[in-house]
Amino acid sequence: MTTPIRPVDHELVAAAAEVARTRCRGDEHTMAAAARARDGRVITAVNAYHFTGGPCAELVLIGAAAAQGAYELDTVVAVGDRDRGVVPPCGRCRQVLFDYFPALEVIVGNGDRLRAVPVTELLPETYVWADHQLDVSG
Ligand SMILES: [Zn+2]
Repeated sequence: MTTPIRPVDHELVAAAAEVARTRCRGDEHTMAAAARARDGRVITAVNAYHFTGGPCAELVLIGAAAAQGAYELDTVVAVGDRDRGVVPPCGRCRQVLFDYFPALEVIVGNGDRLRAVPVTELLPETYVWADHQLDVSG
């Protein structure tokens, strides 16, 4: 199966890279994420590292977006500090992003090989949480 090539939102990558370069400090904030909301806005966030399991930048981003009234995200990208470039989401974030935004596109790859892929492509044969909840309404 061949997935059609989707245009990469370079403005979004630049936004995440700028936050990674200017806002990530020391060990507590090492990753930045940026998302394109359905209404076109760009939302950014950084991770909040903590040994108890502090959230990745993508998870902070979901809350930051909601706090600004952006509940629908179309595209997301994460960029590492120290010029690490685009970093793919970890397994937990893939699952969370999929559950929140099933139609989301995620920018992965590096350098001139960046590409936007559906979050579903990052989680083949995934667990769909909503399919396993009791239907208490009916
Ligand atoms: Zn993560």
